[in-house]
Amino acid sequence: MAELRQFAKNLTDFLEYKKEEGFQTLEVSPETLAALKPAAAPKPAVRSSSPRPAPSAAPQSSIRIAGKTLEEIAGQVRTCSACPLHASRKNTVPGEGNPNRPDIMFVGEGPGAEEDAQGRPFVGAAGQLLDKMIAGMGYKREDVFIANIVKCRPPGNRVPLPEEMIACVPCLKAQIALIKPKIIVALGKTAVQGLLQEEVAITKFRGTWCKYEGVDLMPTYHPAYLLRSPGKKGEAWADLKAVLAKLGKEPPAKKV
Ligand code: URA
Repeated sequence: MAELRQFAKNLTDFLEYKKEEGFQTLEVSPETLAALKPAAAPKPAVRSSSPRPAPSAAPQSSIRIAGKTLEEIAGQVRTCSACPLHASRKNTVPGEGNPNRPDIMFVGEGPGAEEDAQGRPFVGAAGQLLDKMIAGMGYKREDVFIANIVKCRPPGNRVPLPEEMIACVPCLKAQIALIKPKIIVALGKTAVQGLLQEEVAITKFRGTWCKYEGVDLMPTYHPAYLLRSPGKKGEAWADLKAVLAKLGKEPPAKKV
């Protein structure tokens, strides 16, 4: 009975999240349903006041980062089995870009199918839009660093579970400590939740400056959401312009 209740809760969380992402109808694959079953996903501790579990619980296990360089961290990620996501991954996706105090580090949710196949972040449809956002700000992809909350693809592209995020976030934290970005841009609700361990409605929270480990953090929409809700691109652009302003920069003039 408790398992059934947990399954119903995981499913409700997933559907509510997708609704917030802009989905009005959704096909839920058997793969995603299986991944939401508590047997495949150990139960997190849930704050009773929260409609969804925030990652405040101690994980069953989490990656222990001993590496001192980004390459060593990526090597540790490659052999990590701290959460169930390792079982279905083709490749780990540690992240890529400018490792030397870039102006911006973008943090997404987790790899999708294309990222899993290539072992690189944001190389699918959402990645193409992210590339345009980066170019619109006057940067090249290699000027910034791009990473994710979880380094392995959640089956069926479901949202990573709180315990999966908790298991993986020490890796991102170590990457941030080494890379020392001037500003972190958190792409979407899951990125905010994974970093700040806080449940937020991204529609309300975006555009609000926060801090993560002493680094200024700007939450904005995930490019995948913007692909489904192009009417929200203006708000995302306002967030990116606020990032540029904090860096003392302006977007480049548009070519005609
Ligand atoms: N979505 C993400 O959040 N991260 C990726 O790397 C790709 C798509």
